[in-house]
Amino acid sequence: MSATCRVLDVLGGRDPRRRLRLVQWLIASAVYVGAASLLITGVGQGWMNTSALLLWLGFVFAVLVVGYVALRSGWTERFRDPSVTVWQLSMGVIAVNWGYLICGPMRTSALFPIMVIFAFGAFTLRWRQIAWVTLLAVSSLVAAVAVRTLYPHWVPAQGEVPPLRVDINNVLMLIVVLPALAVIAARLSNLRQKLRDQREALSRALAEVERLAVSDELTGIANRRSMRGLLEHHVALSARYETPFCVAILDIDHFKAVNDDLGHAAGDEVLRAFARRTSETLRSSDVLGRWGGEEFVLVMPGDLDAARRVLDRTRHAIRNGCHPSRPVTFSAGVAQHHPEESDDNLLSRADLALYQAKRCGRNRCVEAS
Ligand code: GH3
Ligand code: MG
Ligand code: MG
Repeated sequence: MSATCRVLDVLGGRDPRRRLRLVQWLIASAVYVGAASLLITGVGQGWMNTSALLLWLGFVFAVLVVGYVALRSGWTERFRDPSVTVWQLSMGVIAVNWGYLICGPMRTSALFPIMVIFAFGAFTLRWRQIAWVTLLAVSSLVAAVAVRTLYPHWVPAQGEVPPLRVDINNVLMLIVVLPALAVIAARLSNLRQKLRDQREALSRALAEVERLAVSDELTGIANRRSMRGLLEHHVALSARYETPFCVAILDIDHFKAVNDDLGHAAGDEVLRAFARRTSETLRSSDVLGRWGGEEFVLVMPGDLDAARRVLDRTRHAIRNGCHPSRPVTFSAGVAQHHPEESDDNLLSRADLALYQAKRCGRNRCVEAS
């Protein structure tokens, strides 16, 4: 890691969101530094009193230090808005209007940074917070004008001080401009909320699409497409590590009669129970999927002996576990994967074995040659 990266890590931390908050803090600091440089020029011109400027600089410095420590330490992460934007902007408003109070004939231009504050607010605040910042901006400017008018000796401004008419003009201008800015900011804030809602709805829909793409809707287990992927994966694993595995195709016996006698809904319930009960008897490495209709596919690591034991356990669990009064049986064809054999070939051998199991009287498992 380069020295620059290490310094940035110490100053900004490693959490990217915290870093982003500190970047925003840095932008605000740059605006303060720019404004402070102009005020210092004002002292040079004889428009401002040095001690008044030092007091203002002290306030700004304290705001920046407190802000940095609170953001960098992660203390602000306990709040809903960890950037504490409302606090930062309120401090900005106070700094602007305080600057207005002390900077003599420069006062009109001292109001410009208010625009920056509202631009910041537009990207993060909700409309209530925007309304609060607007109110604070107007009322603190009125307070500044009132203090200067009523207690002129409190304000150690030097040079030519503009008449009250100019102040009133400035306040009125702010009253005209700020609500318009606030409306734009609130509209942006609404748009952002809408975007956020849409993004959440989209990611929920995407998660649902992803779930549906790999699982069977009726039983919730893996669907045919997902089982084909799994088979390909096992064939590749076997080619690489020569690990044995078996595939079984299970078909419920006389399922049409279940539908005919009990109704389609009960048939569905039998299919769900079949998937549930079978899954319960499997080892953690076995995977059951619905192949279609009342046919299921089972992929089992290990040889035919192991597969036979799994299928025997399943047969017992299924018999009286799928319907309260009707025993359910299945026939199965099982095949162990041969080295270099394709998944299609493996499946067709298992299918052939299933066909034999049906022909031999059902409720049995036939091993493919
Ligand atoms: P066999 O022992 O030869 O397998 O006889 P079977 O009656 O099980 O086989 P067949 O292929 O004749 O019938 C399968 C039935 O499964 C027909 C179809 O209506 C029913 N089926 C397929 N999918 C569903 C489903 O999702 N829900 C329900 N309830 N029935 C289904
Ligand atoms: Mg069938
Ligand atoms: Mg059947």
